Amino acid sequence: MVSLAGVLWLNMISNSHTQVCYLCGQRLGDTRDHVFPRLLFPKGKAPTNLITLPACAQCNNKLSKDEEVFQQLILSGRALDTDVAREVWETKVRPNLKDKNRGLRQRVLRQTEIRKSVTFWGQQLHNWPVLNVDSASITRVLSKTVRGLYYLECRERLPDDVKIEVWFSQDQYERLIVPQLMPYARKTEVAKDILTYWRVIAADNPAASMTWFVFYHWNVFCVATVPPEVRSVSNAELTSSQSS
Ligand SMILES: [Zn+2]
Repeated sequence: MVSLAGVLWLNMISNSHTQVCYLCGQRLGDTRDHVFPRLLFPKGKAPTNLITLPACAQCNNKLSKDEEVFQQLILSGRALDTDVAREVWETKVRPNLKDKNRGLRQRVLRQTEIRKSVTFWGQQLHNWPVLNVDSASITRVLSKTVRGLYYLECRERLPDDVKIEVWFSQDQYERLIVPQLMPYARKTEVAKDILTYWRVIAADNPAASMTWFVFYHWNVFCVATVPPEVRSVSNAELTSSQSS
């Protein structure tokens, strides 16, 4: 026997997409998750209007460790030449570097390796050396963000059979950004000097997308979402579908 409260609760969930966790799609989204992590910003300087989406507490908590690893990585290399990245480091990271976190930076660096080729939707596009972040943490954080963008655009969860691929590049801005796709990509500046992204979506299938995130001017991530039905689509076909 289902209680009246139970029926009302189920009704509430089934009638409103906004009440279901946008990440797992299985539990009630009773917390708000920041699509762009707050730890990108210096202490006390996160904008108050950052996008949030409903997420369950489990998904939300699970991501916080991942975001710490991610933060270490995006604050590496030439990013630290920028004032704002140094400010994040000084106000948020350094105070937290207690004994248990001492090896974190080394762990992040060990998780990177040189990869000689990049595939885009099943195709070999170019050969170039990129730092391949073989890290589930980084992939989970950026997958989360891309899931959030899709949810905002389509008001539904990105289907679970869509493959998400992540590439990382440091100091290789123009090489990672695929020049053929840039004319079709929409640029969004989330916060000046902190995060800008370019996003291109296949006209006939919004689950097929590429997004380039540039953190602190230097650290570039490319995230592709690849639905099973478009894995064999050629780059040329994608480009022509965007322009039609
Ligand atoms: Zn969830």
